[in-house]
Amino acid sequence: MSSNKLVHGYEVVIGFETHAQLSTQSKIFSRAPTAFGAEPNTQACAVDLALPGTLPVMNKGAVERAIEFGLAIGSHISPKSIFARKNYFYPDLPKGYQISQFEIPVVVGGQVEFFLGDEKKTVRLVRAHLEEDAGKSLHEDFIGQSGIDLNRAGTPLLEIVTEPDMRSSDEAVAYAKELHKIVTWIGICDGNMQEGSFRCDANVSVRKPGQPLGTRREIKNLNSFKFMQQAIDYEVRWQIDQIEDGHAIQQATVLFDPDTGETRAMRTKEDAADYRYFPDPDLPPLVIADEWVQRVKAAMTELPRTMAARFVADYGLPEYDATTLTQSKAMAAYFETAAKASGQAKLVSNWVMGELSRRLNSGEASIETAPVSAAQLAALVSRIADGTISNNAGKQVFEALWSGEASEVDAVIEAKGLKQMNDSGALEKIIDEVIAANADNVAQYKAGKEKAFNALVGQVMKASKGKANPGQVNELLKSKLA
Ligand code: ADP
Ligand code: MG
Repeated sequence: MSSNKLVHGYEVVIGFETHAQLSTQSKIFSRAPTAFGAEPNTQACAVDLALPGTLPVMNKGAVERAIEFGLAIGSHISPKSIFARKNYFYPDLPKGYQISQFEIPVVVGGQVEFFLGDEKKTVRLVRAHLEEDAGKSLHEDFIGQSGIDLNRAGTPLLEIVTEPDMRSSDEAVAYAKELHKIVTWIGICDGNMQEGSFRCDANVSVRKPGQPLGTRREIKNLNSFKFMQQAIDYEVRWQIDQIEDGHAIQQATVLFDPDTGETRAMRTKEDAADYRYFPDPDLPPLVIADEWVQRVKAAMTELPRTMAARFVADYGLPEYDATTLTQSKAMAAYFETAAKASGQAKLVSNWVMGELSRRLNSGEASIETAPVSAAQLAALVSRIADGTISNNAGKQVFEALWSGEASEVDAVIEAKGLKQMNDSGALEKIIDEVIAANADNVAQYKAGKEKAFNALVGQVMKASKGKANPGQVNELLKSKLA
């Protein structure tokens, strides 16, 4: 399903709520550790257990990460935000409420930009707020009992909420990937989706074009990009079927079952009023002075968007190349090293996005373990740029380096005899022979047949065993036949 296309005459509308687990050592309001995979209930302290008399203390590192996120996507950082209690009863929530932010979140607005194919998209963010995670119910089927693991209780989360700006499952997945890239790039979240460090809820509705927004259903906890796409596509078809059958969509929270590929209603959705939000009297307002924001900003790594803009300005790359190359820090660094060493930025970009990416995508290696180093690629493109080898011969060199057959570009060119024939004396000799042996073609060319000229070029290339430089052959032939 591609972007902006109607599905059976319906427009798809999607908004995302993403829970990014912040990469702090300790919890958001206690000193208990946040490491993943410990024995149940070994990482929950008295605060996380909500024992009477305990009080929450804000983790500065969590706030700093929220500020970094806001700066990364051009948001407003609230100088004063408020923690609120979100009240509900569930066994994995010992306090009977979750500490979250409601009316004034720490991060307001901002936008995420990305390419869908070669189309640039912008998804506006409503807000991002700090909150604590709940514990987890463990259902031990073999003894027919359930238990509660509170290790995760109090883990810091940043909930990132978009406007309903996305119009297809493809766009939604592209957004989620971009957001994932941003939080891992700036290092505020490890992005591990299997471990639940990056969980997406997709709000999905459909409408006839021009109509007001339809009623949405929220697909909870999508923890892989593949399931995300499947779940949204299924949900869209389901909603359209319902409407076509004359049923109204009920607002609901649904779960995706990867085994059946279907979404299934979990509960009807509560309204904010059902949570009886009120400011948490145990926590003072979170005050963030501008000076703190500036300090965080100064210490931040160069952002993908800034880096992409720099690649356009400094290396003259097209925006598409710059955006693609800044998909990961490692890829960007690889490009920049090779571009600087060779002085051939566009050529390097072509090779990184082409041959190198093709190999990486087929799973042969990651950019960090790629057998062809940035320095080697620089040497390779330099030899193409100075006319020593053709682009095609370059592929053979790349293959030799990749397979480990050789490590030195010039040695491979030598050993495989890949040098283009740049010696115009030798080339002229071949051309003279070809002209002498192909009187027909020469006559036809002189009579105005362009095809005959191409045939002559082909003959010369063949006689040179592919080593002649096609541009040079063209030039020399033209001047000799003039
Ligand atoms: P709630 O207060 O119930 O959480 P919000 O207004 O905060 O609802 O919206 C939650 C998410 O749902 C946001 O990401 C928003 O963009 C999205 N959303 C809201 N209305 C729709 C709709 N009609 N269709 C699809 N997504 C929607
Ligand atoms: Mg909301």
